[in-house]
Formats: sequence, C-alpha cells, structure tokens
Amino acid sequence: MSNPLQEIQAEISQAVDSAFKSAKGGDEKWNSVLENYSVKPLTENQKEALLNSSMKISTGAFPIELRWVILSILHKHAGASANSVEVMNFINSYGIDAEVMKYYNKIKPFGGLGDIFKNAKTSTKNYSEGIGEAKKSAIRCKNCGAPRLDTMQYDECMFCGSELFETT
Ligand SMILES: [Zn+2]
Repeated sequence: MSNPLQEIQAEISQAVDSAFKSAKGGDEKWNSVLENYSVKPLTENQKEALLNSSMKISTGAFPIELRWVILSILHKHAGASANSVEVMNFINSYGIDAEVMKYYNKIKPFGGLGDIFKNAKTSTKNYSEGIGEAKKSAIRCKNCGAPRLDTMQYDECMFCGSELFETT
C-alpha cells in the first residue's frame, strides 16, 4: 500500500482524468463521480450560461465541478490523516486555482478561443465605451479571466470556482 500522500495525489489525478474524459459539460459517468464525492452538479441553467459565455471548452466536465471534487478529496483526507504533518502540509498548501487552470488549459479549444474573444472584446471596448457590454466585462476572475455575469448572484467564479475577482 502506498503512503497517504501518494493516495491523495493518485485520487486527485484520477478525478482530473475522469473530468477530462467526460463529454463536454459532463455526462452520466462524470455525474456518478460527482455523486461519489457528494458534489452537486451545476444546474442546467448554470451549464447553459457557461456554455454561452466567453469561456469556451471543447470537451470535459466544467472546471468548477472538478474543483468541487478535488476539495471533497482534500477534505476527506484531512479528516482521515489529520495527524500526519506531511498530509496536512500538502492539503494546506494545495494550489487549487493552479490545478483547475491546468485542467482548463487541457480542455479549452485549440488555440485558446477564449483568449481571442477576450482580446476582441478589449479592442472593441474603445469604440463602445459606456455601452452595456464594456460594463458587463468590468469584473473578471483573477484566476481564469472569466467575466463575472451580472445576471447571477455568486461570490465565486462560476467557471473555475476561484474567489479572486479583479476589476479591470
Ligand atoms: Zn475563474
């Protein structure tokens, strides 16, 4: 049997792998992974909002759902290995934003369509200053760059789950 730290890492990479192999936006198999970790999937409305956002994905489950699974894994092991300094150090210093971004980079369309849209938006901003659209994209996620949607109330980025927003 491997040590607890290796077990956590193996479990996380298995979750990343399952998310990556899921159909675009999730599928039944991915939903069963979520269920195993007591994670509630995004609602259909949320999924639709994400699919229509500038954060394009070409395949795989949504990054925020993977984030929730990883958090659940960390939580589970924090409970089981609370007396292991090694495990607790790993969990406390775990860079979840970076891990979710690494996954996003694997599932985003080749050439990073999301970036192209973002750039297009920035360059047209000068011409439409003050017209709704510019205002809509004023707040972005610091981690993944997703614009915060005005239409919904939430404290975390709906795309990657990061709590870091910045006003641009
Ligand atoms: Zn984000």
